[in-house]
Amino acid sequence: MSTIETEEHKALRSAVAALGKRHGRDYDREALWAEAAKLGYLGVNLPEEYGGGGGGISELSIVLEELGAAGCPLLMMVVSPAICGTVIARFGTDAQKREWLPGLADGTRTMAFGITEPDAGSNSHRITTTARRDGTDWLLTGRKVFISGVDIADATLIVGRTEDARTGTLKPCLFIVPRDTEGFQRRRIDMELSAAEWQFELTLDDVRLPADALVGDEDAGLLQLFAGLNPERIMTAAFAIGMGRYALAQAVTYARERTVWKTPIGAHQAIAHPLAQAHIELELVRLMMQKAAALYDSGDDVGAGEAANMAKYAAGEACVKAVDQAVHTLGGNGLTREFGLARLITAARVARIAPVSREMILNYVSHQTLGLPKSY
Ligand SMILES: Cc1cc2nc3c(=O)[nH]c(=O)nc-3n(C[C@H](O)[C@H](O)[C@H](O)COP(=O)(O)OP(=O)(O)OC[C@H]3O[C@@H](n4cnc5c(N)ncnc54)[C@H](O)[C@@H]3O)c2cc1C
Repeated sequence: MSTIETEEHKALRSAVAALGKRHGRDYDREALWAEAAKLGYLGVNLPEEYGGGGGGISELSIVLEELGAAGCPLLMMVVSPAICGTVIARFGTDAQKREWLPGLADGTRTMAFGITEPDAGSNSHRITTTARRDGTDWLLTGRKVFISGVDIADATLIVGRTEDARTGTLKPCLFIVPRDTEGFQRRRIDMELSAAEWQFELTLDDVRLPADALVGDEDAGLLQLFAGLNPERIMTAAFAIGMGRYALAQAVTYARERTVWKTPIGAHQAIAHPLAQAHIELELVRLMMQKAAALYDSGDDVGAGEAANMAKYAAGEACVKAVDQAVHTLGGNGLTREFGLARLITAARVARIAPVSREMILNYVSHQTLGLPKSY
């Protein structure tokens, strides 16, 4: 892995940045999704034989970061091509690949991802969504919460467990549940978030699914799940870095011009230094994200796991800090709708909480990397 970006990656970055600039912060999510799809950006990580770009998470994270830096992130990129596309490409049956990958790659189909449950939260080992066999079919029952984009997704990849593995260490299995399947209900959660995508609480009440709704192998679920979760963390880092860069750029533009004494406020070090720090931190985080993506794309799932967690943690923190400083730099204007920065205060927190919280990553590094004992 080179720490210097390749010419191809630079070219991709600037092409996506140009697309993002055309759409900007008042973007129409559907229109941007369609245009990004047409240009081949949404499936850059998926296999060429199914219409993807044949690249990896390295390329997909560039796309999301640049759209975010232009003020128009596409959250569903984190779930549809990154988690669901990856899991199906790596572990799906041939029929599942043929059925889903071309659409996920060209953006005509979208898939949401549901693992979080009301009574499990950060502790995925406690999920109780259960799949029971009925002849060759499956009957899936359970509840999910905070699942993004279920209304706009053709299907949701639901993480459950089979009846005979209902308790104990998680032995997950993954099911593709089409949006309008009987018994699959959603209720929109009223979030204090200004975002183009919504979150839902899901109820699965004996949802009948054919045998081929089960992705890959019933016994390889954990491996499959982790294959999708590393890209999710890397893409969340890209989301956070993009948002942090967007906020920082607004603040820098403002600080160069706004003058209330003799010089623009950006000349005061109390304004300039925190902005410089935010820039440094975002740049450092990108390096860790690139390392995680390079490890993942090289097939090193274990190495990628640690780096992806660290990148997601650091990106969430750098994003929250950059947004906070950007809002402050604009004074009263930081809170106006016209400048649109205050809404990022809550949006930035998403990267600290999801898909795995700051504390759970610190736990992971304490135990896995440093070998410290566990408190839970
Ligand atoms: C905008 C948004 C979009 C989302 N989209 C999706 C989605 O598409 N699909 C999906 O499956 N999920 C999604 N989520 C859910 C997200 O992954 C969870 O919110 C997250 O995993 C935290 O779970 P929780 O909210 O239940 O918090 P909890 O697990 O209840 O945690 C609450 C607090 O306690 C802390 N905590 C918990 N356990 C420990 C511990 N052992 N040590 C120290 N601290 C601890 C946490 O860090 C956190 O600060 C989304 C969430 C948001 C906000």
